[in-house]
Amino acid sequence: MLPLVALVGRPNVGKSTLFNALTRTRDALVHDQPGVTRDRNYGVCRPEGQRPFAVVDTGGIAGEEEGLAGATARQSRAAAEEADLVLFIVDGREGPSALDDDILRWLRKADRPTMLVVNKTDGIDARAAQAEFARYGFSDVIAISSSHRVGIDTLLEEVEKRL
Ligand code: GDP
Ligand code: MG
Repeated sequence: MLPLVALVGRPNVGKSTLFNALTRTRDALVHDQPGVTRDRNYGVCRPEGQRPFAVVDTGGIAGEEEGLAGATARQSRAAAEEADLVLFIVDGREGPSALDDDILRWLRKADRPTMLVVNKTDGIDARAAQAEFARYGFSDVIAISSSHRVGIDTLLEEVEKRL
């Protein structure tokens, strides 16, 4: 069985865009409307010269515990709990939000190996964006742009080290 990497984060941070960049498909629904991906979506990433791994895109974690949003949040947690590595995706343009704080809290409980991935750093100061999340206390942080495919190779190297 392939090792499994879970993409976890609040809606609209670019999880599905990253999923597509990693799996080189357009299977994941990317949408301007937050919370579009509802079910878990699995794919395979086959980096050149690297062991392949499975990747799971999750619906955004909307914070609400009721209805569809609640079901989506549970899916995301389940995906994180079964993963060998969690990529906690945040939005480098918006900085930390209350929802990110919530996700961080349950990720700590899930206690899986986790890297903080600061996305959407195209056209902004990536270091400054990264620094905004310093209080989250991650030693493993990487800045990327999923839509511009910047930092993806570095991300893949870091993932390989941890699988
Ligand atoms: P998800 O809800 O976390 O799956 O987010 P999506 O992948 O659906 O992306 C939400 C929005 O952010 C879409 O409009 C994407 O085009 C945009 N987006 C995703 N990644 C990036 C990025 O690296 N840079 C910029 N500027 N926009 C991005
Ligand atoms: Mg999505």
